[in-house]
This record gives sequence, structure tokens and C-alpha cells, in this order.
Amino acid sequence: MFPVLEIEGLSKTYRSSDSVFCLKADALSVGLGQTWGIIGPSGCGKSTLLEMLALLSRPDEVSRFSLHDASRDVISIDDLWRKNEHDRLAALRRNNFGFVHQAGNLFPFLSVRENILMPYRLRFGAGGEPRLHELADMLGITRLLDHKPEQLSYGERQRAAIARALIHSPRLVLADEPTSALDPETARQVMSLFKKCVEHTDTALLLVSHDHALLKDSSVPTLEVRREDAGLDASSNGTCWTLTPSSRGDKEESPVECAVSKPSRTSSSRGLSLFMAWKDFLHEHLLSFCGVLAFAAALTPILLLAGLRFGIVDTLSQRLLNSPATLSITPYGSVRFTQERLTELASHPSVSFLVARTRTLAASVNLAGAEEKRLSADLVPTAEGDPLLGYADITFSEKGVVITRQLERSLSAVEGERSLELFVSRMHGGRLERVSVSVPVLGVLPDSADWKSHIYAPLSFTEAVERYRDGFSVPEFGWTGKEGSPERTYAGFRMYVKSLDDVVVMRDFLMREGIESYTSAREVENIQALKRTLSFVTILIGGVTIVGMMMSLASFAVSNVNRKEHFFAQARLMGFSGYSLLLFPVGQMILCAICASSLSLLFYGGAAVIFDVVCASYLQHGESICRIPAIYTAMLYSGALILSLICCVGAGRKLLRLQPAEVLRRHV
Ligand code: ADP
Ligand code: MG
Repeated sequence: MFPVLEIEGLSKTYRSSDSVFCLKADALSVGLGQTWGIIGPSGCGKSTLLEMLALLSRPDEVSRFSLHDASRDVISIDDLWRKNEHDRLAALRRNNFGFVHQAGNLFPFLSVRENILMPYRLRFGAGGEPRLHELADMLGITRLLDHKPEQLSYGERQRAAIARALIHSPRLVLADEPTSALDPETARQVMSLFKKCVEHTDTALLLVSHDHALLKDSSVPTLEVRREDAGLDASSNGTCWTLTPSSRGDKEESPVECAVSKPSRTSSSRGLSLFMAWKDFLHEHLLSFCGVLAFAAALTPILLLAGLRFGIVDTLSQRLLNSPATLSITPYGSVRFTQERLTELASHPSVSFLVARTRTLAASVNLAGAEEKRLSADLVPTAEGDPLLGYADITFSEKGVVITRQLERSLSAVEGERSLELFVSRMHGGRLERVSVSVPVLGVLPDSADWKSHIYAPLSFTEAVERYRDGFSVPEFGWTGKEGSPERTYAGFRMYVKSLDDVVVMRDFLMREGIESYTSAREVENIQALKRTLSFVTILIGGVTIVGMMMSLASFAVSNVNRKEHFFAQARLMGFSGYSLLLFPVGQMILCAICASSLSLLFYGGAAVIFDVVCASYLQHGESICRIPAIYTAMLYSGALILSLICCVGAGRKLLRLQPAEVLRRHV
């Protein structure tokens, strides 16, 4: 008989404060196609022996522990234990072993079909349906394949567990008291079905039972674990048990062909781990929903605060920006500016536009639609790129002027005409002199831009008027007076800064330069204070909520691993590696994070609509109280994912440290 497993000189000892337990197996050899029953009283170490044979626990001593795997390589298990090659041990388990546990240990979140197919998919990646139907037929569970384990009787569960142990054509099936939870009649039926299936598949079977009669009835040859206290010193309160040696397999016999094993696939174990996470998430839908809801309840207030921070602040900022005066700065006081000084100010990085201002008094003009109706308006210099003209979509030209709506209303007589006659008068040599010039009107500024009667004229024109009023001649317009020109300084300037933040920057800069100015800095500062307050409140509440949420999610994840430890132990027994099983809690937490982020966006969206409806009377078209930029939505998802991964650290450590043998023993 070609051997599958060979053991020599194995011993395992458990010591506690008041007792010692010791188990020895001098020689055990299981050949392909052989069936052995191991019998012995309760507590003699049958399960302990099976745990070592299942590569779950390490013998204290062993002189030979060899596994002949499907490719007929002889693998020294003791070597793998010495080198702590846990992943290779897991791979050997999934490729060579099948297991039937006393409690069946079917995964409650998978259907019977999915449970049975699990070892096949773990070993081969996919498929297994024909073999599933063959085994289900033999075991009489075909009609139960789409049921959940909880819908099955104990006998049916054990039959499903037997199918699961055999589906992937293992070389050796290890069964620990597979019928002990069944009544005698069902136990006999299940045992005979088990034997029939094993014989049909050429698999070796090592079956542990305390029920000698059952094994005898089923014609299973037995090895016995006997008490032998000779090895212990008399003073210790201990027991020593020895397994009677089995006949050694004859290696010269030609090996029996068994299913060809494909290389083990860790990618399929990762995929299956995620699949189980998903199935369990659905199976425990109420609990999952609670987790998602708790996560979403923590995210929603943070989203709302962030929404207010962006919504209100943006709305107010936009309102300020929509007013052309907000970004404008004009100095007051009697300071004179040279051209060089103004050029220097215009080169400041916060400045987007600057035009010099001539003396207001000197720039006043008379104008009339008719001789008898005279009006007066101040001339304000403008230049190429003036944001005020841009605000009203008016293109600047050196050849024309722009008037305000207020002035246009006063000039109803010339409505429709697109040129103005301007009169400039002065006292010169004791006489009143007056000149006039006709200029085209380029456009009309709305009241929102300037509500006074103003004429925006090119700087060169206002300079000419100023020169004329000072008594000088202006040859460009044919106006006569003193020859020469006065020293060129300006009474002020009109400046525009680039952004709201620049308003405060520029005001402070001008103050340092000794220039006092009219600005909207106070309004801007109010908005900035609101923005800072909301950011601070968001960070504070968000921080506290996130810490609390993470603590509760982390303990939720740890308690989830604790609660499901026997599923994880069973999966490890089947051949899942500890690391691939990490995807189970991680996958569930990621799922929870995605659902919670989506749910919190939904809650946030609802609340944002309610805010807008309640505050509709304060809002202008297109404005809203809550608003979150798209990038923050992406940040919500990625942040939730990162948080959920951090929350898995404790659960992951717990899972990696899990001792499958001890857990399975606890959950008999
Ligand atoms: P059986 O399966 O034959 O009933 P077990 O193998 O379960 O017996 O247990 C054999 C003995 O080993 C028992 O006395 C048990 O208390 C002890 N034992 C098993 N596992 C451990 C352990 N991890 N630590 C300490 N003692 C253990
Ligand atoms: Mg036992």
C-alpha cells in the first residue's frame, strides 16, 4: 500500500499546575485507500492526535513525520514546523486533507452547495459541480443543496460535512467523532455512507471515535489508544496514553492513482475569503445594517458641517464678489502720488488693476442736453482693463466715455444719442472761460456698479481737463492758456485686488505705507471669521466623532472575530492561510465604509434640501446653504476606507494569532 502519512516516535505533553497529560504514538502509517479507526476512552488524546495529523498543532517530539503529497514528494512536516512555514502547512492541508468535525462546522452564511464546494474551489479555483452532484447523490442530500445549514438536521449536516471533506479528492480524510452528535440509528447510516464514499474515492480515512461498537459494526479496523503510565514519575498526577502501532505500509507496492492536483492557488483563497465576507455580511444583514448606520451616523454631521462651511461661506463670498466695489480700494486723505509711486503700487502681487485719479474738483464738468438744462457730474479716470467696465461688459476706448445709469436718467433729453457734449469752465485772468468737447458714450454702468452721477473717461482726458482748469493750454483739444505743464502728481488712485483675501492683505499693506483707504476689508474679515469658525467646529466635532466612531468600529471588528472564531478556525483547518482570511474582516469593513459613506451622502443630501427650502427667502437664484465640492465626496469615500482599514488592525491581529486547534476544541 502506498503511504500517505508516516509517523514515528511522536509525543505530546500538556502540563497544568496539578496534572500532566502525555500522548505517544511510536508508529503510525496510513496508506492510500486504507481506513483506520482510532478508539479510546474520552480524554485519552484522540483529538490531540488528530490535531497533529491535521498539521494544526505541533508535536513536542517526533522522529519521523512525513506526508507523501499528490506529486509523490515526501514532505517532512517536522521540518516545516521547525521553520514556521505556516503557509506551506496550510497549502498541504488544502491539497491533501479533508476534515469532518464532530459538530459539522458548516459555515452558516453559505448554502449547503457553497459549503461543499468550498474545499474544491480552494484547491482548484473553480468548478466541482459534477463531483458535488455525485457525492450529494450518494449521501442523499441533493434536494438540500440550496438550503442553509440551519435548515438541516444534525444527520444531514454531517452528511454535508462528509461531502465537503471528499469533494476535492483529498489523499487523507481525518474525521473526529463524526457521528457522536447523532442518535445510534442515524450514526450507523451516516457511518456506512461515509465508508461507501471513501471506498468509492480511494481516499485514506483516519477516523476517531469512542464508540467501539459502531466501528466494529461498520467493519472499520481499529487502533487503540491505551493508558500506559510507566513513562511518568509517580509523584506527578498524570496519565500517559499510547497508540498501538499500525502495520507499516509497504512502499514497494505500486501507488494507487488519485486525482491530479493542480498547484495550490492563493489567489483563489483570497477571492473565497472575500466571497465569504460578502455572504456573511448578507447573512447577518441586521447587524451589518446597524454597523453601517452607526458609521453613517458619525459621518453625516461631519458632512453637514463641511457642507455649511462651503455653502454659507461660498454664498456670502460670492455675493461680495458679485459686487464690483468689493475688490476695489481707493485712498482717502490729502496725499499726492507720483507716477513712479503708483507704478510701484500697481506691481504689488495682490493688485490686478490700478488707475491714477486726478483731482475731483478740477475734474468736474458741466454738460447739457440743451443749453438751458445743465447738469454736473464728476469725471472719474478709467483705463484699459478696468474691472468696473468689465462688470458691465463695456469695452474701454481712449476715444469715448462711460456714464452711470444715474447720469443717464438725468439726461433723458439725449436718450438714444450716443454722444455727449461736455463743458469745462475755469476762472482765468479774472474771467469765466468755457470750452466744450463732444465725446461718444461707450456704455452705461448699472446702479449696482456705481449709483452716483459719474463720467468714466480715459485718464489722458481727465488730465487734460485738470490742466485746463489750472489755467494751462491743452493743444490736443485746441484749448488756450498758460504755456508749459504743471508738475505731474495725482490726488489718488482706484485700485482692484485679485481676490477677497487680497482685500485685507492690501488694506494692511497700504496702512503700513501710511495710506488710509476705503475697502470692503471688514465684510471680508467677517466672512473669513465665519469660515474659520465653521472649519474649527467641523474639525473639532469631526475629530471627536471620528475617534469615537473608530473606537466603536474597532471593538465591533474585534468582537466580530471573537464571535466567529470557530468559522475562522474551520477555514484555517481547510487550508486558508491566516493572511488570506484577513480579507474577511477587512472586506466587511470596506463594504461597511462604502455603504456608510453612500448613506451619509444621502442623509446629507436630504438635510441640504431641507435647509435650502427653509431658508429659501434668504437665498438668491443658484445659491445654497449646504454645498460640498466633488473632490470632498471622493475624499469622504477614501477617508472612510482608510479609517475602516485602521479599525481592522486589532481584529486582524486577533485573527492572525488565532489557534485553530484550540478554538475548534472549544466549540465542540
Ligand atoms: P479525546 O479527544 O480523546 O477525548 P483530547 O485529545 O480532547 O481527548 O484531550 C486529551 C487531554 O489533553 C485532555 O485531558 C485535555 O484536557 C488535554 N488537553 C487537550 N488540549 C489541551 C491544551 N491545549 N492544553 C492543555 N490540555 C489540553
Ligand atoms: Mg475528542
